[in-house]
Amino acid sequence: MNHLDDDAELYALGLTERERSAEIEAHLAACPDCRTRVIAAEAAAAALASTLPPMPAAAPRRAWWPALAAAAALVFATTTVTEGIAVRARGAEAARTDVALTAIASSHFGHTTLSADPGVVVKALYARDGAWCYVVATGAPRGAHVMIRRGTATRDAGALGDGSPATLFLRQPGRADEVSIVAGERVVAHGVPVY
Ligand SMILES: [Zn+2]
Repeated sequence: MNHLDDDAELYALGLTERERSAEIEAHLAACPDCRTRVIAAEAAAAALASTLPPMPAAAPRRAWWPALAAAAALVFATTTVTEGIAVRARGAEAARTDVALTAIASSHFGHTTLSADPGVVVKALYARDGAWCYVVATGAPRGAHVMIRRGTATRDAGALGDGSPATLFLRQPGRADEVSIVAGERVVAHGVPVY
């Protein structure tokens, strides 16, 4: 099996299919490089979740995690992510935003909160290389669509799901210049990812 690449981030966010997750876990057991990438993504996701509710539910702890805890501590000992986590462990509330920013800066995905109508909250998580985008919305009109603009071309990426929050996962959307949520003719939210 090849390295995980973007699947590392999707896995950390709990977005991979069950069968694929099993393959990923088998690979992680044998590949330190991918473990490092997944752990960094999980740290980023956790930091995001701590400062920017509402976020997708955190992925459950994996079977390989206990065996990795010591290794992860070693990996993190040399990274700014760990320094950030250490700061959080000391209970410095004001440092949480810094933790999130540090973790995000060192991860392979970014996020943006869209400007939205009152009562509507929309966040987009996206791979920095444009490989995927995950849109999470609360309060959006039922059946609202996600529109992706690149340059002067805008395409309809599909409707948000019926769940709460409503979500839409896009594979290979490219690096969008703008993400918007449209209900009928109305733009109810829009934002600009930073890659
Ligand atoms: Zn690997």
